[in-house]
Amino acid sequence: MSFTDKTIQCSDCGTDFSFTAGEQEFFQSKGYTNEPKRCPPCRQARKSERNGNGGNSYGAPRQMFSAICADCGRDTEVPFEPTNGRPVYCSDCYSKVRLSR
Ligand SMILES: [Zn+2]
Ligand SMILES: [Zn+2]
Repeated sequence: MSFTDKTIQCSDCGTDFSFTAGEQEFFQSKGYTNEPKRCPPCRQARKSERNGNGGNSYGAPRQMFSAICADCGRDTEVPFEPTNGRPVYCSDCYSKVRLSR
């Protein structure tokens, strides 16, 4: 079985991308029968979109909350909702706090 590079037009952005022989072999070894429909950047974008909006697949949506660092008082952003009484640190102070423990 031999494969040759194929040019496929991305169904999302219309860019031509190559579905290389190596990738075709990989697809076949995985049992995939469908050719990719999207160029790699669009595939990536779709993936992260799904992870961001689905919410229940895995990981939290990457929403950032603004907070004030409990140590240096700078404005910072944290990937979780700051709760009352729980100190929030900017990334600089967070690593310091972690190291000092
Ligand atoms: Zn594309
Ligand atoms: Zn800080």
